[in-house]
Amino acid sequence: MPPLEREARRLRSLIDDADAIIVGIGSGMSSAAGFNHYNRAGMARAGMADWQQTFGFKSLFDGFYHLYPSLEQQWAYYARYIDFMLRELASQPYLDLRSLIGHKDYFILSTNVDTQVEKTFPTESICNYQGSFAHLQCKQPCCDELSEASPYVERMLAGMAGFEVRSEDVPRCPHCGWQLVPWVRDDTFLQGAAWRESLGRYERFVRERSDRRVLLLELGVGEMTPGIITLPFWSMTAKLPDAHLLSVNISGGSAPLQLGSKAGAIQADLGALLSAARAGGE
Ligand SMILES: [Zn+2]
Ligand SMILES: [Zn+2]
Repeated sequence: MPPLEREARRLRSLIDDADAIIVGIGSGMSSAAGFNHYNRAGMARAGMADWQQTFGFKSLFDGFYHLYPSLEQQWAYYARYIDFMLRELASQPYLDLRSLIGHKDYFILSTNVDTQVEKTFPTESICNYQGSFAHLQCKQPCCDELSEASPYVERMLAGMAGFEVRSEDVPRCPHCGWQLVPWVRDDTFLQGAAWRESLGRYERFVRERSDRRVLLLELGVGEMTPGIITLPFWSMTAKLPDAHLLSVNISGGSAPLQLGSKAGAIQADLGALLSAARAGGE
């Protein structure tokens, strides 16, 4: 049996054997879905070659963190970038994951902000720990409110000329008049009622299943923010009596030795693995 097929079978049987599945999703899943926020190819795919040529950006994130001379220009970039993410449909790796775990008792904790998780799974089963580009928040923030990004984006795109939006279209907080910004992790990130509620659902899911056979599944979780998924998953695996951890990553990564036979790792292309695992069950 080819190695990928063997690993796909291993993934399937762990899913089949589990009473409950806690999935941690990181940037590797975004890359598998074809979103590349960190390189040139990603800019071309997002249809933003014009920004690349004019401003010399090397990646989508480059453009997102650039310091623009005006809000009109900054929002022209944001509007195009957000519009790209909103228009993308749920991608194949996410759909494959859904057909693998959709019939099980599961919860998804994600650090991705590209809106793929909420396009694929029901709100009550996900926690977007670092927010999502589908929403805007007040930059102060003066209030605990999330607004849908899409109507703002549409208005800005309609009135955009060259690399600027109209001043009157720059998103403003209806309460304090200060800027609205994308609801994604930075120094003013709003951890308000919606965020706390989804985190609460995640914690409750874990608590109520602590004596069950639990599979902790790490998909494409990198090393940037170990405190959100990786370290808590290690500690749950150690603590829960019948937990098993499986980490899938393109760069390999190994399960910590102290977890012994409770932990395993698969080095594979996530898209290919999920597709093979799904096909194996049909
Ligand atoms: Zn405000
Ligand atoms: Zn407000």
